[in-house]
Amino acid sequence: MTQTITVIRGDGIGPEIMDATLHVLDSMNLGLQYEYADAGLVALEKHGELLPQATLDSIRKNRIALKSPLTTPVGEGFSSINVELRKRFDLYANVRPAKSFPNTKSRFADGVDLITVRENTEGAYIGEGQSLSEDGETALLTQKVTRRGSERIVRYAFELARKTGRKKVTVVHKANILKSTSGLFLKTARAVAAEYPDIECNEMIVDNTCMQLVMRPEQFDIIVTTNLFGDIISDLCAGLVGGLGLAPGANIGVDAAIFEAVHGTAPDIAGQGKANPCALLLGAAQMLDHLGECEKAERLRAAIVATLEAKDSLTPDLGGTGNTMSFARAIASRI
Ligand code: ATP
Ligand code: MG
Repeated sequence: MTQTITVIRGDGIGPEIMDATLHVLDSMNLGLQYEYADAGLVALEKHGELLPQATLDSIRKNRIALKSPLTTPVGEGFSSINVELRKRFDLYANVRPAKSFPNTKSRFADGVDLITVRENTEGAYIGEGQSLSEDGETALLTQKVTRRGSERIVRYAFELARKTGRKKVTVVHKANILKSTSGLFLKTARAVAAEYPDIECNEMIVDNTCMQLVMRPEQFDIIVTTNLFGDIISDLCAGLVGGLGLAPGANIGVDAAIFEAVHGTAPDIAGQGKANPCALLLGAAQMLDHLGECEKAERLRAAIVATLEAKDSLTPDLGGTGNTMSFARAIASRI
């Protein structure tokens, strides 16, 4: 593999977890080249803007970015740099794996290994058609679901299943009540599913899905759903496996894909070497899957699992006495 990726080291604990992640990736001899680009507070200080053109150009050129958490200062024109990046590159698929790992605060010792694929550009989050009456007594919200938007997200879920050897896709909806929007999503999903006879497909109403996730999470493999349901369900799933410390995410579009940790910049522990690098490392594993290097992605995940099992050099959030870099070295030694 010869591939250049854009690397954004980010703010807070960002640089520490990125250095640790790249240390592990380097130990795998992947042939990855890194092109560093700035965003967030560090970019504002160095270049006078939060999201420099050079960074956007780098992502556009390489099509793949590995990104640490960013600080969006209040009053700098963006509500969130992450949301801005999603808009700029039309990153329509938000992909969040949830897997239970040994020696973590998982609610389920094993058995949870699922991926939520959330539509990221439409649904209830279009930001249009929202209004509040003058007397403040009535609020309205418009949701938008398109056949094109539904088709591409559901297709993404089925292709992901094929690529990663997963067996089942669950389409989560509320078409019994939201007949037009969720109805169109479900109808479109059925048509796409028919093209993938090798992948099992079932349908589940969102409220029942929440109960099933808490009671029998092992029945799920890949979940695909609209924006608002996906937002809620992916955090529910992070909770099932012990919170944000081990939760990666990807934002994927046609022209670019950005891989990251779900957690923030954690300013309370920044610069102390205490940060757990696993979420970003698991984001890097997602990146390898995306690049078609599924076997290498699995090797990386297996090394993380083995290190957690051995309780070797774990960071304080996992009850260990190691630090960010010693944890990374322990993982690299098991690859
Ligand atoms: P932001 O404003 O960027 O979201 P935050 O303060 O909300 O930052 P989060 O990253 O969301 O920070 O983290 C919430 C809590 O979880 C903090 O106490 C933080 O120290 C802890 N935390 C987050 N990520 C990690 C990590 N990778 N390793 C260890 N602790 C973490
Ligand atoms: Mg936060």
